[in-house]
Amino acid sequence: MWWLTIPAAFVGGAFLWSFTEYAMHNWRGHKGKGKNPFSREHLAHHADSDYFTPTYKKVRTASVVTLLVLPPLAWAGGLPFGVALVAGFLASYIGYEVLHRRIHTHPPTGPYGRWARKHHFYHHFSRPNLNHGVTSPIWDVVFGTLERPEVVRVPAKKAMSWLLDPETGDVAAPYAADYVVVRRGDKRRSREARKARKVAQEVSASV
Ligand SMILES: [Zn+2]
Ligand SMILES: [Zn+2]
Repeated sequence: MWWLTIPAAFVGGAFLWSFTEYAMHNWRGHKGKGKNPFSREHLAHHADSDYFTPTYKKVRTASVVTLLVLPPLAWAGGLPFGVALVAGFLASYIGYEVLHRRIHTHPPTGPYGRWARKHHFYHHFSRPNLNHGVTSPIWDVVFGTLERPEVVRVPAKKAMSWLLDPETGDVAAPYAADYVVVRRGDKRRSREARKARKVAQEVSASV
């Protein structure tokens, strides 16, 4: 039955990563509030979206985890089972790393890429306590932390380079339905405009 258990172990490993991705990001990264090394690295990425933890640190952690979990897994289910499970876990972890980087550096090319970017940038720029999954919304649904924004507000200073039209400096036409760039003072200006409109309405109602 190896033809069944080995692929099942691989898929199980990938599923396990999907949960780890959510758990690390939410409970260790954000709720850790900078009190553990992963949280400090993650909050640095939030402060500067161009910052990503150096690859050598990620390779080091992945190697330690592999060395720790492979022997007990091989002991419990045999070496091929253990290797398949760890391979599934590592493959989807690498997939996550590539996707996360591309979300920041490249524009979306299809419905999944469009969803992944809106989901992640809403987390980055509006609600850091929501949307902790990066590759999928599964665990955000399970733990009630999913929100699907209509439009994502992006601070001009932190805007991804692919988002902006180089000519106008505003959101490029293909992404205008999904994003709006907010500049410093915009909030104050719109508050003042609202106030002015209200006063004008009151004046016109009283005459
Ligand atoms: Zn990010
Ligand atoms: Zn985060």
